[in-house]
Amino acid sequence: MKSHYKAVVIGGGVVGCSVLYHLARAGWTDIVLIERSELTSGSSWHAAGGFHTLNGDPNVAKLQAYTVKLYKELEEVSGQSCSLHLTGGVMLADSPERMDFLRLAHAKGRYLGMDTELITPSEAKAMFPLMDEKHFVGAMWDPVEGHLDPSGTTIAYSKAAKKLGAEIVLRNPVKELTQQPDGTWDVITEQGTVHAEHVVNCGGLWAREIGRMVGVELPVLAMEHMYLLTEPMPEVEAFNKETGREMIGVLDFKGEIYTRQERNGILLGTYEKACKPWDFGHELLAPDLDRIAPSLEVGFRHFPGIANAGIKQVINGPFTFAPDGNPLVGPVQGLTNFWVACGVMAGFSQGGGVGLALSNWMVNGDPGFDVWGMDVARWGEWASLRYTNAKVRENYSRRFSIRFPNEELPAARPAQTTPLYDTMVGQNAVMGDSWGLETPLWFAPKGSEPKDIVSFHRSNDFEHIGNEVKATRDKVGITEIANFAKYEVSGTGAEDFLNRLMTNKMPKKGRIVLTPMLNEFGRLIGDFTIAKTGEEKFMIWGSSAAQKYHMRWFEKHQPKDGSVRIHRFDQTLVGLSIAGPKSQALLQKLVDVDVSSKAFKFMDFREMAVGGAPCMVNRITYTGDLGYEIWMQPAYQRLVYKAIKDAGQEFGIVDFGMRALLSMRLEKNFPTWFRELRPIYGPFEGAMDRFIKLEKNDFVGRDAAAKEQAAGPKLKRVSMIVDALDADVMGDEPIWAKVNGKDFGTVEKTHDFGAPRFDGSGKEVRGSTAAQGASAVRGTKDGEWSVVGWVTSGGYAHYVGKSMAQGYVPAELADNEGAGMFEVEILGHRRPARINIEPPFDPSGEKMRG
Ligand SMILES: Cc1cc2nc3c(=O)[nH]c(=O)nc-3n(C[C@H](O)[C@H](O)[C@H](O)COP(=O)(O)OP(=O)(O)OC[C@H]3O[C@@H](n4cnc5c(N)ncnc54)[C@H](O)[C@@H]3O)c2cc1C
Repeated sequence: MKSHYKAVVIGGGVVGCSVLYHLARAGWTDIVLIERSELTSGSSWHAAGGFHTLNGDPNVAKLQAYTVKLYKELEEVSGQSCSLHLTGGVMLADSPERMDFLRLAHAKGRYLGMDTELITPSEAKAMFPLMDEKHFVGAMWDPVEGHLDPSGTTIAYSKAAKKLGAEIVLRNPVKELTQQPDGTWDVITEQGTVHAEHVVNCGGLWAREIGRMVGVELPVLAMEHMYLLTEPMPEVEAFNKETGREMIGVLDFKGEIYTRQERNGILLGTYEKACKPWDFGHELLAPDLDRIAPSLEVGFRHFPGIANAGIKQVINGPFTFAPDGNPLVGPVQGLTNFWVACGVMAGFSQGGGVGLALSNWMVNGDPGFDVWGMDVARWGEWASLRYTNAKVRENYSRRFSIRFPNEELPAARPAQTTPLYDTMVGQNAVMGDSWGLETPLWFAPKGSEPKDIVSFHRSNDFEHIGNEVKATRDKVGITEIANFAKYEVSGTGAEDFLNRLMTNKMPKKGRIVLTPMLNEFGRLIGDFTIAKTGEEKFMIWGSSAAQKYHMRWFEKHQPKDGSVRIHRFDQTLVGLSIAGPKSQALLQKLVDVDVSSKAFKFMDFREMAVGGAPCMVNRITYTGDLGYEIWMQPAYQRLVYKAIKDAGQEFGIVDFGMRALLSMRLEKNFPTWFRELRPIYGPFEGAMDRFIKLEKNDFVGRDAAAKEQAAGPKLKRVSMIVDALDADVMGDEPIWAKVNGKDFGTVEKTHDFGAPRFDGSGKEVRGSTAAQGASAVRGTKDGEWSVVGWVTSGGYAHYVGKSMAQGYVPAELADNEGAGMFEVEILGHRRPARINIEPPFDPSGEKMRG
């Protein structure tokens, strides 16, 4: 072990070894992996070794697809076999709802490049004769599934990394981490201190403890997990002999079971409801068949062929989860050069993608993919140990349960509340979780239970959201907006700093602008409302969930000379929004200044007392109607709310929730962050043209944006009206077009940083390969029709009475309505759709301007 390295990777499980390999492959060879014991001595050696590409988040699914494709390269480079068995697998649906879920997953696969197929239970049985098909209504076949040898694969990563120049030090626990004033790290190990520019926490089961060495509480929790191996089974041997094939992998949602062939027997694992967190420190766990008995009972009914087999061995091992089950990857906000790649619950499906994304990020400053679904920045301070404990148990026990689009999960709630929480609950609000904050979604009628009936179809909230929207648009409505991100940027350098980060020119004092933010590659990484509130002071509002993500970016670019101060308010600033034609008259009753449209214009900002409380007021709302956003300290929120409600009685004021707000933004064609606008899109693709001022000054991403504009975007964000039946789009549905076989090519939604890759014979090749992962427009064909794009979000626009969707299509199809030419696939049914160029509500913006 040397005394200095560019990077130290802590932990020699599959994830640490993959990170080491990918860093070396990207050209960093002055790197070392330090392992407490032997390689694979954490979760990795227990693993059942299964892999698949399916994931609820399409961007994570792409990284899983990359992982699976990588194994061949890994074997070539390392000379070590991973014992790959690419058997394919089926997911079995036992109910119509589960079949809807599979139809959705299958439809998503159409633009992800996945070749899944919906099949009947009998077809599934032909591939896995141990099942009883009478328990199922259908299935989905995925050819890219299989299993491998977990230890062999981890060793293959390590050998490949060493071949490229990386070092590995075993039996050497990292004891402490201290940061030097220049941001570099002293890594204090049992064998001595190592100095490094970067540290990566790949501590797996011990990732939380490594986080604590630097004062960070990572939201990960280890859970016990069991699978069993049967004795050799004559049925399996007969099947192999007859067909010349191995049995496939099977996932049974109802039984919470996964199963596959292992040697000449069967491996069967379960995500049981009575799940159990790992008792820290106990690495060898005793089997506990009683705990998984309910799942086994269902499993043996569904797979009678397995019920009679003898059990050879039961493995019980721990592995870690984040509260939503996806990994924690990236640089930790507030620290310099401290990286994490942990909480990886499916190391053999995700480890390669995690290693690629993290190494891209460390070496090139960007993960190269849209990795929001696994970015460590997606959790806030509220994701405490208590929160994580409750959420991980919920996630584990629901691993095979359906998550409906209108389903709010109850564990660890409420985490954060505003002063109006009790008032809202008292008014029969159905509450939702918005980045850890309880937020009203809709208001149920008095006397009824405030509860969503979960469904893929329109549900019990439909009529009531409609009423909230209509009353707001016809009269006036009020809603809570505490769940926005709010920042103040101040100091002598504030304006220059913001002009350097944002694409739009900063406003004059008392005015507001809307502005996207780009990374160096000209991709959208933010979308904000900014008001100039003082000579050297700006308020910024943005997406709540992106607070840590954006703070990390702001801090990275903050001048070191103290000329710019950045403050994130979080819940120390809360808000209310009023909207609708009567909102101006209502506000006028509560303030001592003139708020007529002449004196307080659209996109103006003022500080004023509202109902006696000091507030900041923006003359803008996301409803796209005449309206205001009113911001105050929490201590004043109840006062302001009561004043508005009292004064609003004469105008017929109603409360509306987040779902009504999102419905109203749809009929204005407004995009949302993380749905329409994400780091895979350019600003012109995202139809944000009017906010991109290429001529104003040099800003981050300007050159790339100029190139995108000059070349013309390949895709374009559009808004559509869909002839839906009783279900609206949710996001990720394919968009079909009647293009008579025209091929729009593939749009890569990744960056190729030019790192070397290896072809099938182990030779180094450069440039984009399948290993780059994502393809965006694939062109699944059906006669004259092809899949040309995808939906990002949508729903029912209640005021205009239309089902609407937003999404991306090839730019050349985006300029006109295309009536008769588009279809959107909702729950397996292709419904006619047309592009909606002008927003259906207030297309001229007359009402909004007032
Ligand atoms: C029973 C079971 C079945 C599973 N089945 C599958 C499956 O079929 N498919 C799948 O993809 N995944 C499966 N998994 C999950 C899989 O094992 C994990 O996703 C994966 O192993 C995580 O790897 P890791 O590198 O993040 O963590 P780990 O394997 O836990 O590695 C962390 C390493 O860090 C080292 N370390 C910790 N602290 C220090 C320190 N202070 N100094 C130095 N070194 C340190 C540890 O010794 C350890 O080697 C299963 C897990 C279990 C338990």
